[in-house]
Amino acid sequence: MSNTHKPVPVTVAYGDGIGPEIMDATLRIIEAAGAALEKEVIEIGEKVYLSGNTAGIAPSAWDSLRRTKVFLKAPITTPQGGGFKSLNVTTRKMLGLYANVRPCVSYAPYVDTKHPVMDVVIVRENEEDLYAGIEHQQTPEVVQCLKLITRPGTEKIIRYAFEYAKAYGRKKVTCFSKDNIMKQTDGLFHKVFDEVALEYPDIINEHWIVDIGAAKLADTPEAFDVIVMPNLYGDILSDVAAQIAGSVGLAGSCNIGEEVSMFEAIHGSAPRRAGQNLANPSGLLLGAVMMLVHIGQADVAEKVHNAWLCALEDGIHTYDIFKEGVSSEKVGTREFADAVIARLGKMPQKLKPVSYVQAQGRGIQVKLKPAPAVTMETVGVDVFLHHEDRNADNLGNPLKGLDIANLELTMITNRGVKVWPNGMPETFCTDHWRCRYKHPEGKAISYNDILEISQKLHAAGYKIIKTENLCNIDGQAAYSAGQGA
Ligand code: NAD
Repeated sequence: MSNTHKPVPVTVAYGDGIGPEIMDATLRIIEAAGAALEKEVIEIGEKVYLSGNTAGIAPSAWDSLRRTKVFLKAPITTPQGGGFKSLNVTTRKMLGLYANVRPCVSYAPYVDTKHPVMDVVIVRENEEDLYAGIEHQQTPEVVQCLKLITRPGTEKIIRYAFEYAKAYGRKKVTCFSKDNIMKQTDGLFHKVFDEVALEYPDIINEHWIVDIGAAKLADTPEAFDVIVMPNLYGDILSDVAAQIAGSVGLAGSCNIGEEVSMFEAIHGSAPRRAGQNLANPSGLLLGAVMMLVHIGQADVAEKVHNAWLCALEDGIHTYDIFKEGVSSEKVGTREFADAVIARLGKMPQKLKPVSYVQAQGRGIQVKLKPAPAVTMETVGVDVFLHHEDRNADNLGNPLKGLDIANLELTMITNRGVKVWPNGMPETFCTDHWRCRYKHPEGKAISYNDILEISQKLHAAGYKIIKTENLCNIDGQAAYSAGQGA
């Protein structure tokens, strides 16, 4: 029985723009359905930013989040201009919200879509990849962003995807990566996926290269069930998936951490629609449904979600999804909430009802296995130089004369393409060069060797930008070769 739940502390932020209206509607619906919540309201967003707090969240709000560990968040407005940090990025990183989960479902024929049978859940890694935010300008011509993929970070998200599939009765988990090109970073993501998949023999697993996978997702989303992917691909493709399902206004999402989790709509604060009783509260409501499952009130979640489906199929639609001939009534935010409340306890007749009996919410536990022990030895070094002459031979030939006993120059690449020795005259070169040094007999080297070659290059007037160690892991080269090498 829903009304037997013990109240669960939840931190609530009403946000900006349409935020307060859709939060009111959402809380009214879920509480009418029997959600037992002990709400702590915090201030985030525009007002906090404009008071001089560049993160948009007051320090006291973190105390509430640490206490409740559950965050129901309405969208906020990030003020224009520089200096304001994205609150979502801050929250994800500070609280270690490693998994972004976004169900993308179509509701044909009640919401227009080219994909009437779509029901895909995107599980996006949330903390790593190019979003680590480690960027540097290295030369006047070249900037760099580090793509970091870690074994524990990858294992956590892949395990979460399989555990999610198990908890929600999903049949298949697909991995998207670009490991044909990024053999180390995306290669690790794919490798860990294959390892973890072996532990879930009842769930089908498959891997797609992200480009063709994305094309297939946009064309035939019914071919997918749960898809797990690194941060950047997930960022882009979760928006594509929500949009092709019919409307970004209908999708909720959650950001799961080991301690704290955050639940929200995927859309923004739609300031032009604010204060007019127009906005569709469905995205936040479905975020709140995910929250109810998470806090162990799955029966309430199921009741709310099915009543919402009833309202949708009865044609009670806000302006954003209203369509003559399909919709029966155009309603505002408050009236939509009333319509859902009036249907609590009913099951949809045409749309597929949801069932959360199996769902374990906070019970989704991700335990990392100890990483396999590896042997690691340094066998060379890539020395990156800033050098303005675009002719590779003018760099490589004199550089060769500076080799030391334990390190010889084996190749030079520019933008990853081998240009020395024997480069192609057509290859365009910038002012950013990678000079690869290895032991002449393929033996391990020491850091002193790296210091010695660096000092020699520096003394000869070359401008070193950085060095990267070349490592063998268990005897295998764990670094990229140059294209054309
Ligand atoms: P938006 O999602 O707010 O709006 C895009 C379009 O969708 C607009 O036409 C809007 O009217 C409509 N729309 C969005 N949600 C709707 C709803 N629930 N019902 C009916 N119509 C809806 O995106 P935007 O205009 O690019 O951004 C506005 C502000 O929101 C910006 O300040 C942005 O930084 C912020 N934003 C916040 C979040 C968040 O807090 N999670 C996410 C995205 C954008």
